Amino acid sequence: MSKPKILIQLDTDSHPSTFDAVVAVDAGVDHLFQYGGVTPENVEGLVHGAMFTRGPGDLHQTAIFIGGSSVEAGERLLERVRKCFFGPMRVSVLFDANGANTTAAAAVLAAAKHVSLEGATATVLAGTGPVGQRAARLLAARGAQVRVASRAIAKAEAVCNAIRSRQPAAKLTPVQTSGADETASALRGASLVIAAGAAGVELLSAEARNQVPELKLAIDLNAVPPLGIAGIQPPDKAVERDGAICYGALGVGGTKMKIHRAAIERLFASNDQILDAEEVFTLGESLAK
Ligand code: NAP
Repeated sequence: MSKPKILIQLDTDSHPSTFDAVVAVDAGVDHLFQYGGVTPENVEGLVHGAMFTRGPGDLHQTAIFIGGSSVEAGERLLERVRKCFFGPMRVSVLFDANGANTTAAAAVLAAAKHVSLEGATATVLAGTGPVGQRAARLLAARGAQVRVASRAIAKAEAVCNAIRSRQPAAKLTPVQTSGADETASALRGASLVIAAGAAGVELLSAEARNQVPELKLAIDLNAVPPLGIAGIQPPDKAVERDGAICYGALGVGGTKMKIHRAAIERLFASNDQILDAEEVFTLGESLAK
């Protein structure tokens, strides 16, 4: 008889995310162990406890989830967790700080349904947050020319550099969007936009949107009014508005939830997986078939 499924939730924030915990339970985890305030300095014992208790034949029934509000802190933690593993002594890990990978995967999958991403010009508004960074990375990996937008050009440049360090051939341009006119120019000539701004912040006004009639696809991830893109409704899912196909936060959110649950389930298939942006995207693609 197989052992119960144990998920060890390591969160870089002081309180482990209840959202991530609920998804874990809904994905069929039998026991969830939650730890907050986890850092590269204090994680080793938690990982060793996961690796050394069950025999190699049962290690696939134990897995780790890394979350928290900062992608950078989560990435440092993931790196340290990986270093704890050796030979067959390892457990699978899902990295989804702030829902960044599952949400970005859902948004880019929605985009790929309507636009051929290879060679497409895409703008990611607020491309500096957890979700925006991952959306830019996934778009670039699919051959899109990605404009990474931020109110501060230095932040956009830092994201482009981080993506280039993994994907040297990525076509990325940092752009500053501190007002409606700059936002309109960041979109000019782009066929798609993903707005990944903070909750309750409008990034693309109706006025700015009218300046870019060439836009074919607009995806807004912010569900909290005011919404990120004027004119899009949260439940929109491939709804045509003003000549563009539109997705709202709830329209993308259903797919995000499916991917998140499936990624947790996938962890228990073997003990040697690291599920980061690309693996989560590939999983999302397989669900869409
Ligand atoms: P975040 O870190 O809260 O913010 C993303 C970016 O928004 C920041 O890096 C910042 O970029 C910009 N921003 C912050 N405050 C702003 C302001 N007052 N005015 C203009 N820009 C501002 O967001 P996140 O965690 O990446 O999430 C992105 C969005 O996805 C959020 O709206 C979140 O609620 C949503 N979300 C949706 C789903 C779903 O399933 N639909 C799931 C998860 C998250 P700059 O400083 O570089 O300009």
